[in-house]
Amino acid sequence: MRGFESFLPSDEWQAAGVHWHAFTEAGNRHTLRERAPEAVLRSPWEVARWIDARTREHVYKREIWALHERLWVSIGDEDDLEHLRQENYAIASRGDSIHTDIYAETERRHVYVEAVTDAQCRHGCTTG
Ligand SMILES: [Zn+2]
Repeated sequence: MRGFESFLPSDEWQAAGVHWHAFTEAGNRHTLRERAPEAVLRSPWEVARWIDARTREHVYKREIWALHERLWVSIGDEDDLEHLRQENYAIASRGDSIHTDIYAETERRHVYVEAVTDAQCRHGCTTG
């Protein structure tokens, strides 16, 4: 965990002037744009932490057999979560959106973290 906070892969998100609207949804996503975000995230750190927290809430920890690598891969363990956190952090630092799925025990949860500029934002949250 140490070092994660200080290492910034890119500062493009600052130049782009974006913040993120975060949603999780078990069903489909066609109403998403009209909904108020569950969270407004203002930095890549917040994005990575928010997704990490949602993943911990919902992920069904298990081992899967990776046929091509011929080994067992753990889903939802600390290594896996750390890897995801770094990945999401890198994506967000470029000012990009993240769409991902969390595999819960009986369903798949969609996670949307949309990068928006103040001009694109319809919910009145400014980056100021
Ligand atoms: Zn906004």
